[in-house]
This record gives sequence, C-alpha cells and structure tokens, in this order.
Amino acid sequence: MAQRVRSGGWVEIDAAVGDAELTARLVANRSNRGRRTSRLVVRDACARVSTTPRVSNAELARFVAANLAWLRKTAERQRLERAARPAVSTYAPDLRAGGAISLLGRRYALALDERSERFVLDLSAGRLTVPHTAPIEGLTQQKVLELQLIAWIEEFFDAMLRSECAVMTPHWGVQPAKIEVADALSRWGSCSSRGVVRINWRLAFLPDICWRYVYAHELAHLTHFDHSAAFWALVRRYCPDVDKAREILARESPGRIHADKPARALLRRAGLGSGLFSLKTDIVRT
Ligand SMILES: [Zn+2]
Repeated sequence: MAQRVRSGGWVEIDAAVGDAELTARLVANRSNRGRRTSRLVVRDACARVSTTPRVSNAELARFVAANLAWLRKTAERQRLERAARPAVSTYAPDLRAGGAISLLGRRYALALDERSERFVLDLSAGRLTVPHTAPIEGLTQQKVLELQLIAWIEEFFDAMLRSECAVMTPHWGVQPAKIEVADALSRWGSCSSRGVVRINWRLAFLPDICWRYVYAHELAHLTHFDHSAAFWALVRRYCPDVDKAREILARESPGRIHADKPARALLRRAGLGSGLFSLKTDIVRT
C-alpha cells in the first residue's frame, strides 16, 4: 500500500498498517518545531508528532510506541464521527424570501416587505421580515436579499455577543483583550496570544449553547494554553452545557452552514451594510 502522508507531516492512522510501520512513518514525518516536550496530535484520523531537534529518532519512536493504543482509539473515534455527519447541515439557512433560518436555536420564517425600511424580528410569530433594498448593479434581487440578510445576521450576532459577554465574563475573573466576530470556514473560534478572542458569526444559526461553549473554550485558553484536564474543568465551570454543545458542533462545520465567501467579500467592499442596507431592527415580543 502506498504511504499516505498529508502535507505538514500528517500521517494517516491506518488500521491495516502494523505498529512498527506506523511508528516509523510518524517518526519520519516528525516536526522539530516543538517547544519543550514531544507531542502527538490527532486530527481527522491523521496524526503528527512534534518534538525538539535534541530528541533522537530512537527516543521519539519509543514515545510514539507508548502512545499508539491511544492514537488508534482516537483516530477510530474521529472516523466514526466523520461518517455520522449528515452531508447537508441541519442548520444551513434558506435565505430565499419564503425560506427560513434558525437563529440561536429558534426557527424563523423569512418574509420580504417592499414597503418597510426596517427588519422586524417577531419573536412570538417566529418571523423575520426583511425590508426592501434598492437593486445593486450586476446582482439579482435574490442575491441582494441574501447579502442583506447575511449583513443583518452578522450585525445581530455581533451585538448579541457583546452584550451577553459583558454580563457573563466579569464573573469569570478573566477578560479578553478584544472580542471580534470572525469569518473562518474551518473553525468556530480562536484566541490569540495577545488575548484577542474571535467567534465565528455562523454560530448565530446554531442553538445558543454552541456560541456560549465556544466563547468559554477560547476564554479558558487565556488561563490554560493546552487542552489539559484543568483546561476542561475550567471550560465546564464557564459553560455547564459543554457536552451538549460539543455534540452539536462535532456534526457541523462553519463551511457547511454558509460558505458564500464571494458574497462576504462584496459586503466588506461595500462597507458591510453601512449606507448599502438598512439594518435597523424592531423586535416584537407580544
Ligand atoms: Zn482549544
């Protein structure tokens, strides 16, 4: 069988390959940019070992061999998770007029109001009314509607995130340097070494507990830079729903929910709604 190695030293954990051969492949693809200790990372049923230049191949092989059982078990679990994911996201929005979107765990029918200049989020009727927008050169009316909706959802999520985090975080004893809404296709959130926490706006389409968990995860990284038991204990303190949220997120990825990058680039060029769209909102609760 041909050796399958992903770029960047990732090696597929193949159940048909024996222990000695698998160990040799991992050692041959070692990364020497590790900090102090040797580390094994398994992602999407592929593994990579990082270490420092001082560690010999023989030493590294002993380290890998000692962790092979865990490696195989983790890769197998990831393979099963991948197979269980449906091909189409349950949360993908239907942005056509007459379509529907999920917002923070609630479903809203979409309606277009030619006469209105404001969005109306009717919580009791479960309806989001989108105002009329002037045509944009070179775009169909449907595309304009989609762009306007995406701009609104991002703004809605941004405002919600800021107000909720301002209430939640003071009790946690840590503060992010900055909170930003992110647009990555492969990750839900990130935390930079300077304490900037980024949260993917597509979490707006998932149940509430999902963004709460992602935020808790990134904030816990301000205290623990790894995924140790102490890290997870802290995440659980910040967000008791961690298991339920992770179960949902394991079946989803940002790109499967909404991946129209060209539309987003267009929005950015247009200044994300300012002047182009009316993002004014009325929230109806009765
Ligand atoms: Zn993490």
